[in-house]
Amino acid sequence: MTFANLKLPQPILDAIEETGYREPTPIQARAIPVIMRRKDVIGIAQTGTGKTAAFTLPILSTLGSIKPKAPGIRALIISPTRELVTQIRDNIQDYSRHMSIQLAAVYGGVGEQPQIEALRHADIVIATPGRLIDLMDQGHLDMRGLEILVMDEADRMLDMGFLPAMRKLAKKMPNDRQTLLFSATLSGQIEKLTREFQKKPTLVEVGDRTDPAKTVRQCVYQIAPHLKFPLLLHLLESPELFTVLVFVKMKHAASRLAKQLSQSGVPAEAIHGDRTQNQRQRALDKFKEGKLRVLVGTDVAARGIDITGVTHVVNFDFPLQNEDYIHRIGRTGRAKAEGDAITFVTEYEHRALNELEKFIKRDIPRKHDRTFDYDIPAPVRDGAPRLKRNNDKAKPQGNRSPKRGSSGGKSSRGGSRGGRRGR
Ligand code: AMP
Repeated sequence: MTFANLKLPQPILDAIEETGYREPTPIQARAIPVIMRRKDVIGIAQTGTGKTAAFTLPILSTLGSIKPKAPGIRALIISPTRELVTQIRDNIQDYSRHMSIQLAAVYGGVGEQPQIEALRHADIVIATPGRLIDLMDQGHLDMRGLEILVMDEADRMLDMGFLPAMRKLAKKMPNDRQTLLFSATLSGQIEKLTREFQKKPTLVEVGDRTDPAKTVRQCVYQIAPHLKFPLLLHLLESPELFTVLVFVKMKHAASRLAKQLSQSGVPAEAIHGDRTQNQRQRALDKFKEGKLRVLVGTDVAARGIDITGVTHVVNFDFPLQNEDYIHRIGRTGRAKAEGDAITFVTEYEHRALNELEKFIKRDIPRKHDRTFDYDIPAPVRDGAPRLKRNNDKAKPQGNRSPKRGSSGGKSSRGGSRGGRRGR
C-alpha cells in the first residue's frame, strides 16, 4: 500500500514525501478511502498510530477538490487540549504546503484578537471547545459553509466535560456535513455520541496500536530513592540520550528536577499544567528543535503530546497506573522509530513492578551500571545519617548532595547542594 494508491492529489503526495512518510499506517490505509468517499467515520485509534494524518489528508483532498458551498469556515477539528490543537495545526501546515489553505488555531490561555483575525480567512479551524464557544458567542465563527467536522480524542473530550459545548456548536452547523469521530476506545458513551452527531458512520478500528510495550526497548534500575538524581545525571553523560523525556509524579517535582538538571549543565525544562501556555509551548518547541535535551513532565502534561525523535523516556518516578507506563513509553519509538525507556524502581515499588510486568505480559530486564557509584550515601539530616524513605514527601526526589561539603568524586551531583536553593 502506498499513499498514491489512496488517490490523494499530487500536491498532497509531494508534501507527504517531503515530510518523510514512506507508506500509510494501518489507520491511514483504512480510514482515508472511506473519508474521501465523504462518509461519516468512527476511528478507533490512539495517538501514535498516525491518526492525525488519517483525517487531515482526506480533508485537504476534499477541500481542494470542491468549491465552497457558502461563506465561512469549511472544516472544523475539535480537540481537547491546546497542545493537540497546535500539533494538528503544524501537521496540516506540513501536509498543505503546496496548497493554498488558510488555517486558524483557536485555544485558550492566549489573546483572542489574533485568533479572531485568523478566523475571518480560515478554511480549516482547529480548536479547543471552550475558546471556540467564546468566539462563536461573540459572532466570530461562521459555519454556514462547514463541510467536515472532526471530533478528535472524543473520549477525552467527554471526560473533560465538553459534551455541552459540542452540542452547542453542533446546533450552528449544517446538517449535511460529514462528521468524523476519533477515540482511543469504543465505549457505550462514545456510541451514544456517534448516534447524536453522526449519520450511518463506518467503524474503522485498528487492532492494537503499535504496542509500545513490544516495540520500545525497556529496562529498569533498582535503586534507593536518593540515587535517582545522581543516576539520571550519570546516564545523561552518554550522548546516546539525545532527546530525553523524563516523567515525575508531581508538578513541583518536575520544576525542581528541571532546575537541578540545568544547574548541573544539562539543558532542561519542565512542562506541566501550572506553567502558562506560552511557557509550555516554548519549552516544547525548544525540545523539538533540539535546543533542549531534557523535558521533565507529569503524566497529565505529557499525555497526547507528539514529539518525534524522543530517543529516551526516563521514568524517574514509577508510574501510578500501568496504563500511564504505556502512555509514557509510547512517547518514544513513535510510528516505527525505535526508542528506549528507562524506569527507576525503588524498593517500595517492587510489587508494582511485578504487576506492571504482568500487565504488559513481559519481563523488563534489570540493569546495573557498573560505572555508577551505588554507594553514594543517603543525605545527612539532623546530623544523623539515615536512609531516605519514600514517604518523605517534602523532598521526594532524592537529589541532595550525598554529604554536606563532600565532593563524592563524581560529577553526578545536584546544583542545590544541601540547601533549599533548588526549589
Ligand atoms: P499521530 O498518531 O497522529 O499523533 O501521529 C504520530 C506520529 O507519526 C507523528 O509524529 C506523525 O508525524 C507520524 N506519522 C504519521 N503518519 C506517518 C506515516 N505514514 N509514516 C511515518 N510517520 C507517520
